[in-house]
Formats: sequence, structure tokens, C-alpha cells
Amino acid sequence: MHAMKELWNYFNEIKTIQYIDELLGWDQSVNMPKGSIEGRAEQSKFIRELIHKKIKSDKVGELIKKAEKLNNLSQTEKALIREAKREHEHAKKIPDELVGEITKTRALGFIEWEKAREKSDFSRFKPFLQKMVELRIEFAEKLDTGPTLYSTLIDLFEPGATYNWVAKIFSQMKSSIVKIVKKLNNSSDKPNQSILKKYYDPEKQWQLSNEIIKKLNFDLNIGRQDKSTHPFTSSLSSVDTRITTRIWEDFLPACIFGTIHECGHALYEMGFDEEIHGTFLADGCSMGIHESQSRLWENIVGRSREFWVYWYPIFKKTFPENLKDYSMEEFYRSLNVVQPSFIRVEADEITYGLHIILRFELEKMMIEENLQIDELPEIWNTKFEELFGIVPPNDKEGVLQDPHWIGGYGYFPTYALGNLYGAQIYHKVLKDNPKLPQDYEKGEFSNLLSCLKENVYQYGKIYRASELIKKITGEDLNPDYFIKYAENKFYPIYGF
Ligand code: ZN
Repeated sequence: MHAMKELWNYFNEIKTIQYIDELLGWDQSVNMPKGSIEGRAEQSKFIRELIHKKIKSDKVGELIKKAEKLNNLSQTEKALIREAKREHEHAKKIPDELVGEITKTRALGFIEWEKAREKSDFSRFKPFLQKMVELRIEFAEKLDTGPTLYSTLIDLFEPGATYNWVAKIFSQMKSSIVKIVKKLNNSSDKPNQSILKKYYDPEKQWQLSNEIIKKLNFDLNIGRQDKSTHPFTSSLSSVDTRITTRIWEDFLPACIFGTIHECGHALYEMGFDEEIHGTFLADGCSMGIHESQSRLWENIVGRSREFWVYWYPIFKKTFPENLKDYSMEEFYRSLNVVQPSFIRVEADEITYGLHIILRFELEKMMIEENLQIDELPEIWNTKFEELFGIVPPNDKEGVLQDPHWIGGYGYFPTYALGNLYGAQIYHKVLKDNPKLPQDYEKGEFSNLLSCLKENVYQYGKIYRASELIKKITGEDLNPDYFIKYAENKFYPIYGF
């Protein structure tokens, strides 16, 4: 058989197994009884090992070599070879024992993290964290794909990105965010969130969240929404994308924006060109680009005035007691409060970047500068005060809030890159289609979806993020678009 065809088939098979793994994970988070974890863990381990073995096999190496020699390869074929090679080389460099050790430490450490966070007791989590940092350093040393250890880890999530590149972008972003937050803080006409912090019937929230995804063109014929502790998106095939949301009865935004965020991820997954359905390229371009789409729908669209011109009357009708005394404008402003806060996942879209910068700087210190894990809580608090002007009252609201570090390092930066990519892409889309926001006022989002599909979604993983952003906007990632967007949106909200 033709080498290219054989490579396609082989990786389509791997993709099929990965979809089955996703199904196991989705079921575990949504349906599975708590007591059934042991059996599921066994199944997941089996499937992961199977995938690892298949990617690592010498047969793949040979197929890649043969395919690379072919002439007249299409863009898509070249991309498949690139991805196959990357995965194969990674898998070959990392010994099975190290993979096993990381998986085990993560599983045990996650359970300990939950207890430590609950009791705000860093000391019980510390040994697991220490171990994971050591394992990830070893992992990065073995992989050795970037100019530094931390760059190697960042590249796993944002292919092509390095520490220096991210640091430069973040330093531009940081000074502008600090300036904006300072100015907003001096406003004598600040919005407040009290409207949102009332009892909102969970059943009604759930119904509204389902109405919203329908209007956003989430295709219920090939997708569904459920509830889970932490919202997530999971694709179980090219025609089966599931999202989840969570409902807090005393804080309306948790469910609504959780839903819109995950719907943004899902629209991306549902928008791949049919040519790449079921293939290894049916995936987001990078974590940063994937996050740009969830945040674009959640913040740029979902927290816009135009969006609420359509939705506020519906919300008012659904929650008449809570909202009868408030205008659409007051509600809109309450959704866009900017203020320093301790918890990342509850942060507004402006101060969010500072939460990421804090983690980015600490990850660098842990992976490359031998930061003593004992000192982590104290360093967290000192840096937090420098960035936000407030100090977390305890470790639960400080260093223990996120579980990410019991898994890996280099993932956090992609969240903030998502805000920046999103603003730059949206700026271009809006320049080409200035009337789009008028659609939102009518509850109409299909034109925006078509634009994003055409520019971003259809390609899946064919391009690298740096290529895609240049192809769409004509320039490299530039944080100025996010800063301009933030100033234009938030200064008026705060009466400037
Ligand atoms: Zn996301």
C-alpha cells in the first residue's frame, strides 16, 4: 500500500482508540457511580498503554520515513506527517516506567490535593508536588525539544512556543493590565455584582443554558450538554461533541458563562472540515488557539452589550423577582466587574492574565531554578501581593486552589495566550464584517460562526498557531489587540 495511505490509516486507528478513551473519561465525569472508579481506572490504563505502544512502534517510524520521501504532498498530508513524527519521537524518548510513575503520582497526588485544599494544609500535598516536579524535570530532560527545560514543557501544549517568547508577550500584557486595573479602581462609578449574587433557581438556569447553546448553533444532533463538577468539553468522534456545565444557585454567571465557554470549545470541534474528520488532524491547532475560541464566545460575545439586548428580556421574564428593578445596562455592567480576586477561575477577563503570569513565573522557578517546594506558599503570597495588592488569607485561596501542578507544567500560559489570540482574531473578523454585533442583538450568531469556521475551525491541526494567526490577521501574535479591546470595553463601563 502507498506509504501515505498506510500512515493515514494507522493514525486514524489511533484516533479511534483515543475517542474511546474520551468516552470512558466523559462517562466517568458525568454518569459513573463513584464506587466504580477501580474498574474504570483499569480500563483507562489499558487504553492509554495501547495508544502509547501503537505510536511508539518501529512500524510508525518506517512509515514516516517512507512518507517523508514522497513528492507532491498536500498541505494536509504534510501536517499529518509532522504530527505523526512529533508524537512518535516523543513516545520513543520517554521510557514506559517514567510514564507509569507520572500517572501513578498524579492519581495519588490528586486525591491528596483535594484533601489538602479542603483543610488548607499545604504540608500534606508537598511531598507529591515535590515528586511531580522532579518527574517533570526528568521528563523534560529526556524529551529535550526546546531551548530550555521549561520551554520543552510549554511546547507540549503550545507547539513551537518557548519560554522567552511567552515571557516577552506576557511582560507587554502585564504592564497594560496593571495600568487598566489601576484606572478602573479610581472610578467613582463602579458596577457591582450584587444583582448576580441572589438565589437563581437551578432548574431555570439549566433550561436557559440549553436555550443559549441552541441559539449559538451548538448542533444537538451531534452533541449534548450535561452537568459535572468542573465544566469540560469532550469529543467522542468527529460527529459527537459533549459539553458540561455547573450550576451555582447563588451566583448566576457560573452556569451561563461555563456553558458559553464550553460551547465555544465545542463549536471549534464541530467545525473541522470533513476531509480531516476522524483523523489525527481533527483537533485544535494548539491549546492557546482552542482557548481563544472558548473565550471569544464567552467574553467578547457573551459579555457584550449586544448579546444582552437579546437575552436580558428573556432572563428578566425567567427571574422576575430578582431582575425586575434592574435595567439591561445595569445587568450588563454587573457582568463586567473588574477587581483583584484570589481565585483564578472566578477572575474577570482583565485580571485573569495576572493570575496566569503568577503561575508562569513560579513554574519557571520550579522547573529551572530549583525553587524549594517548602517555600512555595510564601513565594506565592509575596508575588500575589506584588501583582494584585492583596494577600490570600490562606493556602486554600492561594497556592492550593488549582490541581494542575500535580499533572504538569507549561499548560497555564495557554489560558492567557487564548485571551490574546481571541482578541486579535476577533478584531480581524469584525473588520471584515462590521455588522456582526447587530446580529447578536437579534439572537443571531450563524454569521459569526461561519467566519470563525472559515478562518479557524475548518483547519483543525493543519497549521501551527504561529502560521494560523499570521494567515488570518497578517501578523504575529500581538497583545495590543487585547489591550485595545479591554480599554474600549471597560473604560466606558467604569464611566471614563
Ligand atoms: Zn477552556
